[in-house]
Amino acid sequence: MKRPRIRAALKGGISNFVKVEKKMNICKPIENGVITSWYGERISPITQKKEYHKGIDISTIGNHDNIPVLIAKAGVVTWIDKTRLYDPDTGKGSFGMVVYVQLPDKWYCIYPHMESIVTTLKIGDKVEVGQQIGIMGNTGLSVGKHLHYQEGMTMGGNGQTRQPVDIIALYE
Ligand SMILES: [Zn+2]
Repeated sequence: MKRPRIRAALKGGISNFVKVEKKMNICKPIENGVITSWYGERISPITQKKEYHKGIDISTIGNHDNIPVLIAKAGVVTWIDKTRLYDPDTGKGSFGMVVYVQLPDKWYCIYPHMESIVTTLKIGDKVEVGQQIGIMGNTGLSVGKHLHYQEGMTMGGNGQTRQPVDIIALYE
């Protein structure tokens, strides 16, 4: 069954339009992306050991530069971290440049590894579906430019996570 789609203007973004799921009011965080790693158990590309991948990895085919990261679900910005480097001694900074957005259902959308974050974005901002928050990057504990899109109950990497089935469906 084909999903009804509408086109919504980007608020302050550089891309012209994004496809928005009409009923659920969501969009792809990387517009022309593909899912490169799935939610759940996998072999870590970094340690080569089994791990539980708490989000989905989305990247692009071909050009990886200046790819906008878009808000997939509307909410409120609760944290912005501009740490670029991962510290293996303390384990801090694994998400690199990251933005946390709290959803109305209290879950958080987490947008890590960004190359840059929109400079005007600040904690407390309401963000709309399709709004650009940064540029896809490779900061933190990451191999290659991608967005690790995660939905969690807490800010930070710990705590309960859920499989973002509705976002995944947009890429199918
Ligand atoms: Zn990931």
